[in-house]
Amino acid sequence: MKLCLDRYPGGVQRALTMSYDDGIDYDRRLVDIFNRHGIRGTFHLISGKLDQPGFVTAAEVKTLYDGHEVSAHSVTHPHLTQVPFDRIAGEMWEDRKRLEELAGYPVKGMSYPYGSVNDTVAGALAQLGFDYGRTVVSTGNFGIPHDLLRWNPTCHHDNQLMETFDKFLSAWHRDNMLLMYVWGHSYEFERNNNWQLIEQFCAAAGGRTDVWFATNRDIVRYLQALRRLQTSADGRIVHNPSAIPVWISADGEPVQIGGGATVTL
Ligand SMILES: [Zn+2]
Repeated sequence: MKLCLDRYPGGVQRALTMSYDDGIDYDRRLVDIFNRHGIRGTFHLISGKLDQPGFVTAAEVKTLYDGHEVSAHSVTHPHLTQVPFDRIAGEMWEDRKRLEELAGYPVKGMSYPYGSVNDTVAGALAQLGFDYGRTVVSTGNFGIPHDLLRWNPTCHHDNQLMETFDKFLSAWHRDNMLLMYVWGHSYEFERNNNWQLIEQFCAAAGGRTDVWFATNRDIVRYLQALRRLQTSADGRIVHNPSAIPVWISADGEPVQIGGGATVTL
């Protein structure tokens, strides 16, 4: 029997995640679009800017981003590669603490302000208990991330979004998990007068049964659980030690392994 770790929840092989930076008040309009179409995303907030003109308020963080993910983006948005180490740590740690207080759950992700990252910055992120850091380097492809501390997105939304989505749907997926990761800032839709682009994209993507709509954190947690599966030497017995269900394929057919379950195939 051929086992393959090539499935997302529901047994599908494609996932879509959205990632928006800065916590600008246009997030309200963007979240509404996502919610109407069942699209899910991660919002990287600058905790030091909350309640300032043009930004979302601290009081609305929990409700506005409900169903999505609140993630870090530093307290004051510096180029982290150009500040002393102590300040790097403070920017990440204090942002986490403030956002966790508002969101009510552990904040384990971040996007790097201006995409600025080097070994020191990525190392600090790991040491401070973060699981992932997103860059601004668009890959144009649909691979799952190899280095979560330098998680490169597929594309910015202004970079041939609809064409990239078509490629995503037609990409070769045998024995493979595909991920389309879109990033940007909600104010760009207003500035570039292209809200219709994200409406069109979400209408086209939303409701598809062959795509898993997930936050960045959902994807990280799922990949962690998938990699934690234990299999017997002959590959016929699979144990899932995690609390969440995991899907794999056996001879090309999706199989669900429940949280804590042991399945004989
Ligand atoms: Zn930013």
